[in-house]
Amino acid sequence: MTNREIRLIEQGSVCYTDYSNPHILTVADAKYSGKSPCPNIPQCNTAGIVCALDCGRQVAAHVARGKSLKSELYEFSKVPFIDEELWNSLDRVNFTRIKGKAKVLRAVEGFARIVLLEDPFESVLPTCEKCEGAKLEHEVYDSIHEGHITCAGSGRTKRRMTLYCPDCDPLPRGGIIHGEPDSEDEIFRRLSRKRDY
Ligand SMILES: [Zn+2]
Repeated sequence: MTNREIRLIEQGSVCYTDYSNPHILTVADAKYSGKSPCPNIPQCNTAGIVCALDCGRQVAAHVARGKSLKSELYEFSKVPFIDEELWNSLDRVNFTRIKGKAKVLRAVEGFARIVLLEDPFESVLPTCEKCEGAKLEHEVYDSIHEGHITCAGSGRTKRRMTLYCPDCDPLPRGGIIHGEPDSEDEIFRRLSRKRDY
């Protein structure tokens, strides 16, 4: 739960409210301190691209209503503009355009955490070592083949979750496992050795 009034998160605007100010907790606080216009408003209006900060505010609104941050970020990862350029800023002074699902997700989570008065450098999603963006889980199915004859498939599959970076890695696919694996570790060991996928 956040100490910020839900109404300020749901109805406030990143264009006129400085959510990084920890003293602005309610709509009344925001009114009392006056409008704090975002310096990027002129470019934002002309370029017509989506603001990652506003996306973060919307994610924070769902979390303030009781949803989990992780599930909201997975929901957000499906928005139609996820692969386009978005505005982002770490200080609400200097704005940059970012592109790539992993980076956008990290930026949106960071600002959602600022709105919720949480540490923006923590994350519910693992970090990609290459781009420092957010990694996602993806479900794959490995098919189990009996014996050593490739086409002797039993039609059985085993489900497992894999982690991947949507910007740096190809979408994970399942592989072929020969014989019944004893454990999850065994699946990974065989897949990395055989490279069937
Ligand atoms: Zn990456």
